[in-house]
Parts: sequence; structure tokens; C-alpha cells
Amino acid sequence: MKNQQEIIVIGGGVIGVSVAHYLRKTNRSVTLLEKGDICSGASHGNAGLFSCENPIPMAAPGVIKDAIGWMFDKDSPFSIKPRLDLDLLRWLLQFNSACRTKPMLKAISIFQEMKRIGDALIEELTASHNIDCGMEKKGRLILYRDAANFEKGVKSIEFLKQFGINVQVLDKEAVRKKEPNLTAAVVGGLYYSEYIHVIPGQFVHGLADVVEQQGGTLKTNTEVIGFETKNKRISKVITNRGDFYADQVILAAGAWSPIVARDLGIKVPIQPAKGYSITVKRPETCPGLPLSLADDKVAVTPMGDSLRFSSTLELAGYDLSINRRRIASTRRAVNAYLPGMENLELIELWSGLRPNTPDTLPLIGRSESFDNLIMATGHDVLGMTHALITGKIVSQIVANEAPVVDISPFRPERFN
Ligand SMILES: Cc1cc2nc3c(=O)[nH]c(=O)nc-3n(C[C@H](O)[C@H](O)[C@H](O)COP(=O)(O)OP(=O)(O)OC[C@H]3O[C@@H](n4cnc5c(N)ncnc54)[C@H](O)[C@@H]3O)c2cc1C
Repeated sequence: MKNQQEIIVIGGGVIGVSVAHYLRKTNRSVTLLEKGDICSGASHGNAGLFSCENPIPMAAPGVIKDAIGWMFDKDSPFSIKPRLDLDLLRWLLQFNSACRTKPMLKAISIFQEMKRIGDALIEELTASHNIDCGMEKKGRLILYRDAANFEKGVKSIEFLKQFGINVQVLDKEAVRKKEPNLTAAVVGGLYYSEYIHVIPGQFVHGLADVVEQQGGTLKTNTEVIGFETKNKRISKVITNRGDFYADQVILAAGAWSPIVARDLGIKVPIQPAKGYSITVKRPETCPGLPLSLADDKVAVTPMGDSLRFSSTLELAGYDLSINRRRIASTRRAVNAYLPGMENLELIELWSGLRPNTPDTLPLIGRSESFDNLIMATGHDVLGMTHALITGKIVSQIVANEAPVVDISPFRPERFN
């Protein structure tokens, strides 16, 4: 007789690997199935902010107005590829409904609680495993060239104070004390001290090694292509490399989750949201801490021997092609804030798909359609930040324990 439940995790990004880690930690038998290599999706080339302090969700009042303005500018950080797509239309309507004060306030308090627990999990992980991923807690500096935007930023700080978030407002002189390598165009900045950053690819590969050392099985180049179901349960996971039988199945396929779940007849409310990153060899004038170039929506993250610029959110379906015009405008934005960034040695030009939900909150919990299916997906712009807590929650759901946070806001079917 079997004495251990077999658990299949679908997807080898930061979420799937974190889930596998916490399942092994609680001594579950785990096999992770990944269609490509470990960390070949959104988790590879992102901005590496592992613990984000600003809790304002993407879906917030005023965002729709900004987005409409950006859509008419080909150099802007946001675009929607025009097409007839009912899922996209539904998603946009749901997103619009989440851009109200009440849902935003709810998301803020959820994100704050997740950060508190997530930071404790980071401490626990780093105390027990030495993952070589350049983890640093240096905070993040938000830079402005536009005085009116800076003023708006300062007002948002007033708003955040009620949640106990203390951000330093830095004038033209003070911002240069924090980060001396700035062009004359920068008029001021806001400094958050609690951000933690990593080199994301190294983190995920390091944690995947831990999973293997703990006895978990990672199967790469193994694509889930279908399922067999019986009595409201998944009885078989079908892949291009044979069939797998599992007591529990965890869906952690990021932006591809809707495609994987289609065979189960489940509609997953995720839109792929393409972003780009440009990774260069660390220049002599490399900033000392992670930056946000606020007027242009570009993230700048020093990562060991390299420096990464991340930008853009395009709702263009599963198209991973790179828009050169957008890359050029990202480079121009960088030059406008930072000196010495003209002749950089390119390491990688990358695009990736964020798994975006209409309300910025992830989809975590048991599926209502199948008793042995757990969703762990839809981490939007915060998948690095919420990876460890998601792994912990899933291990608690499997163990029938009360999760570390109330997971009712993450109910996968909340948009049905
Ligand atoms: C430009 C950019 C910057 C970002 N910056 C940050 C940041 O600073 N901080 C932060 O917290 N978040 C950030 N994010 C968001 C973050 O990258 C994502 O939320 C996170 O990587 C999602 O992780 P995931 O494991 O769900 O998805 P992924 O990393 O995409 O992993 C999903 C995996 O599933 C696999 N898969 C898909 N289909 C199948 C199948 N049929 N069978 C088997 N395997 C399959 C894929 O190959 C993939 O490896 C950023 C994203 C982008 C694009």
C-alpha cells in the first residue's frame, strides 16, 4: 500500500519551484513537470525585486485614464494589440471594475500582510540554505525628471503613511547623496528602504537544486498536453514524455495556465502581459541600488556583474517578439536619468509574459471543478515577491492546515 501522496507540479518558474520546495520540506513526494528548462518563462529576465514595499496594485483608480493616454503613443510603456478576443475583453472589463478605491485598499492590506510573512520566509530560507543569487536589501529609489510627477509621487507617500509605510522624500540635492550618478535632469526621488532584490534566474535555479537535493524530481522538456479525469478528479497527467499519475496536481504554469487548463474545461482569468528586459555588463557608472525611472516606467536593477533595465506591459497574447522601438525608448529613458549608459555591452535582450489577473491578486487555492487540483498562478507583476508565501500556502492546503494568510481573496473562481 502507498504511504505517500504523489504530487505533480506543472511549471518550473519561480512559483512551481517554490511550491515544490515547500512540499518537499513537508516531506511530500513531488515531481515537477516543465515544458522547457527550469526558469525559462517570466521568472528568468524580470527585474528581480524579491520583496516589494510599495503595495499599490496595478489595478488602481486612475490607471485606466493613464493607459488610454499611453495607447496612442507608440513609445509608451503600455499597449494592447488590437484584436477580437472575448477573453481579453472580459479581462479588461474585470480589470476596470478592480480599478476602484475599495478593491485597491483591500489589495494593499493583503500585499502588506504577504510582505510581512514573505520577508520572514526569506529569512528562514537564507538561514537554512546558501543560495548564490546576489540577494541584497538595499531598498529602492524612485527617480523623477518631471516636477509635476514628483509632486504626485510625494502625495502618494502621504497616502501610504496611513499604512505605516515610511518613504523618504529626497529633493534634488538629497537624491544625489543617495545615488550620486544622476544626470542634471533628475529633480527628486523617493526612497523605500525595505525592498530586497536578487538575480532571479540564479535564485530559481538555486532553489531548484535545493528541491533535487531534498529528493524532489524535476522533469524538464516535459510538456503537459492533456489530462484524464474521473469522478471530479484528475486521474492522469498526459505529457509529451509519457503519462503521470498523481494524488494532487498543482497548476503553476504562469501565463500559460489558461492553455494548460483548457483541456480540463476550466477558464483561468489570466492575460499574458509581455515585458522586456535589457541586461548589460555592469558599467563603471552602475547605480548602487535598484531604481525606478518613474516618468518612463523603467526598472533598473544592479545584478552582480550585470545591470538590468526592465520595462513595458503589452497585452499582445502569447506573442514573444521584441518591439525594437520600445527597446530604443527604454534606452533613451535610461540615458535621460543616468550618465555613462551610452556604450554598454549587451548580455541579453529578453521578453517574458507576466501572468496578469484582473485584480492583481494571484489565483491560489483548490479548484472547484476538480477535487485534486490546486491552482498556484496569476502572480501578475509580483511573482518573485509572492513566490515563497505561495509555496508555503500550497503546502498547507495539501496538508489540510490553515494557511498563513486568509486565502479567500485568491479564490481561483472569483471571477466566474
Ligand atoms: C519585465 C518583467 C519584470 C518583472 N519584475 C518583477 C519584479 O521585479 N518582482 C516581482 O515580484 N515580479 C516581477 N515580474 C513578474 C514575475 O516575473 C512573474 O510574476 C513570475 O515570474 C511568474 O512566475 P511563474 O512561475 O508563475 O511563471 P513562469 O516563470 O512564466 O513559469 C511558468 C513555467 O511553466 C512552464 N509551462 C508552461 N506551460 C507548460 C506545460 N504545458 N507543461 C509544462 N510546463 C509548462 C513554462 O515553460 C514556464 O517555465 C516581472 C515580470 C516581467 C515580465
